[in-house]
Amino acid sequence: AKEQGRSTYRFYTAEQTRISRERFELESGLRRAIERDELRLFYQPQAACANGQLVGVEALVRWQHPERGLVPPDRFIPLAEEIGLIGQIGEWVLNTACAQARQWAQAGHPLRVAVNLSSHQVSQDKLFDTVKGALNRSGLAPSLLELEITEGHVLKRVEECIVELHRVKTLGVSLAIDDFGTGYSSLSYLKRLPVDRLKIDRSFVEGIPDDHDDISIVATILSMARNLGMGVIAEGVETPAQIEHLVAARCGEYQGYLLGKPMPPDALQDWMDRHRA
Ligand code: C2E
Ligand code: CA
Ligand code: CA
Ligand code: CA
Repeated sequence: AKEQGRSTYRFYTAEQTRISRERFELESGLRRAIERDELRLFYQPQAACANGQLVGVEALVRWQHPERGLVPPDRFIPLAEEIGLIGQIGEWVLNTACAQARQWAQAGHPLRVAVNLSSHQVSQDKLFDTVKGALNRSGLAPSLLELEITEGHVLKRVEECIVELHRVKTLGVSLAIDDFGTGYSSLSYLKRLPVDRLKIDRSFVEGIPDDHDDISIVATILSMARNLGMGVIAEGVETPAQIEHLVAARCGEYQGYLLGKPMPPDALQDWMDRHRA
């Protein structure tokens, strides 16, 4: 047993070394990613459930790494938060998304663009200036910008977040709660936040149309949102059966691979041309 313990230990340190080297490389690469212009925004279409009409897009960041290829956000956003780079990246995302949406609007496609905020951004009183700056620089109509926060974002410094989000709302942007239903204490502050839209988490949509619990949860979110005067987007819609159910349940909007994957701006342009045809 002792022998085994030792070899396990040895294996573990080798693994640890590999992980920390990889982390160090990612970290130093990420520090230069913005100046080297390696970040990319992909855009995923969002449509009305009732008629499939395109209503907006969600901006999702990727890192075009010189050796690793396209790195997904789950692989570097948490790291960026840890090493204090998320403010810079978040600002880049906001500026880039607003500039892109403004370009689409000028080309005759006034699409709402949704941008994910990190918890770090939400709890800072800089958020107002950052959002205002992005709107001013781009010239985007504020009504075309939506900010996505999660329930968890607000938890840490509830009072500060509520105050700051109300300030940001005065700019004329809209606010969505992402991954709704997966956090906790959502209901207690939902009425204190200026929320326009709830995004039903993919994990609930996944069970449609077979899982009765998921169906009940989705129905409950829809009726609550209706009563509170909020819109709803169902996330992660992958099958025709799911969209059929959502249409029947009178869900407002949806997003997911069934409609379209996140794609670079030029691919979205092609997608829009095909989608309209
Ligand atoms: P999220 O905000 O919940 O974004 C939705 C994720 O689900 C995206 O993953 C998207 O590609 C994926 N997805 C969309 N439709 C489907 C579907 O039909 N089926 C399945 N299985 N997946 C689907 P992605 O792009 O890898 O982003 C992961 C997470 O990274 C996001 O989750 C968000 O929390 C975070 N993130 C992305 N961009 C940003 C950003 O600019 N800033 C911050 N702070 N976080 C970001
Ligand atoms: Ca999101
Ligand atoms: Ca989500
Ligand atoms: Ca998620």
